[in-house]
Amino acid sequence: MKIIDRLKEDKIHISFEVFPPKTDEGIEKVFATTDEIAKLHPSFISVTYGAGGGTSKNTARIASHIKDDLHVLSLAHLTCASSTKDEVREVIRNLKSLGIENILALRGDIPSGVSFPDADRFRYAYELVGEIKKYGDFCIGGACYPEGHVDNEHKEDDIRYLKQKVDAGVDFLTTQMFFDNDIHYNFLYRIREAGITVPVLPGIMPITSASQMKKSLELSGTVFPRRFLAILDRFGSTPAAMRQAGIAYATDQIIDLLANGVKNIHIYSMNKPDVAAAIMKNLSEIIKC
Ligand code: FAD
Repeated sequence: MKIIDRLKEDKIHISFEVFPPKTDEGIEKVFATTDEIAKLHPSFISVTYGAGGGTSKNTARIASHIKDDLHVLSLAHLTCASSTKDEVREVIRNLKSLGIENILALRGDIPSGVSFPDADRFRYAYELVGEIKKYGDFCIGGACYPEGHVDNEHKEDDIRYLKQKVDAGVDFLTTQMFFDNDIHYNFLYRIREAGITVPVLPGIMPITSASQMKKSLELSGTVFPRRFLAILDRFGSTPAAMRQAGIAYATDQIIDLLANGVKNIHIYSMNKPDVAAAIMKNLSEIIKC
C-alpha cells in the first residue's frame, strides 16, 4: 500500500523513524527495535539511508522486514549525492524487486573527496524524484525545511525549489525537526501560498539528553526556543529528568499541532522504542479524537 493513500484516510496518522546499523552485526538489534515500534500501530515506519556500503543495503533489508514480517507500511529513504547514477538505479531496482512501494527521495550530504556536482551524480533531490518515477509506480516523499535549508540563504528560493521538487512527482513532504510550532505554521502558510498542496508531515524529534540536543543542533542548525533551553538548563545534567522533560516537550508540540488541525505527525524516534511508546501513551485518548 502507498503511504499517500493511507494519509488520505480521515484520521490521525503517527509514524516513526529508525536508522540502520553501521555494520551488519547490528541488524538484529534494529529488527528488535522495529518489532517494538510496530506494536504501537504506527501508520508507517521510515528507515533512513546512510552513505554507501552496508548501511545503505540494510535500509532495504529493514524496510522489507517492516513490510513483510510486521505488516506495517515502510518508507525507505534514498539519497543520491553519495552514489553514482548507476548505483542509485541499482538501489531503486532492488527496492522494486522487494515490493517496497514508498521511497523518501533525498539529495543527502555532499560527500567529501568526490567532484560534485558531477555528470555522473544526481545533483538535487528533484532529479532523483524524476528517476524513481521512470522505474515504476512508487509513492515518493520529499524533505522540507520550515527554517530553510542550510545551503540556501534565501527562504523564497528554497520554497521555489521545493515546488520544483513536488512538481517532479513528490506525493508528500516530511519536515526537518523544529521546536517552535509557530515556525511550522508560518512555513505551511508560505508553501500553500506558493501552490504546494501535498500533505506535509511535521517531523518531531523528542530530545531526551543534552548530548542529543548538541547533535541535533549540528545536524539541522535548528532554533531552540527559550522554553526548551530553560528545560535543558534545569534538567540537562539529570538524565532521567531530561528524558521525561524531553518526552513531555515533544508530546506538547504534537498536541498543539493536532489541536490546530494537523492530522499527520512523523516522530524521529531514532531507535528508541521506549521513547516512542511513552509519547503514544501520552496521546492515547487524543489520537482517538
Ligand atoms: P534538495 O531538495 O536537493 O535541496 C538541497 C538544497 O539545494 C536546498 O538548499 C535547495 O534549496 C537547493 N536546491 C534544490 N533544487 C535546486 C535547484 N534546482 N537549483 C538550485 N538549488 C536547488 N540524509 C541522509 O543522508 N539520509 C537520510 O535518510 C535522510 N533523511 C532525511 C529525512 C528528512 C525528513 C529530512 C528533512 C532530511 C533527511 N536527510 C537525510 C538530510 C538531507 O539529505 C539533507 O538535508 C540534504 O542536505 C538535503 O536533502 P534534500 O533532499 O532536501 O535536497
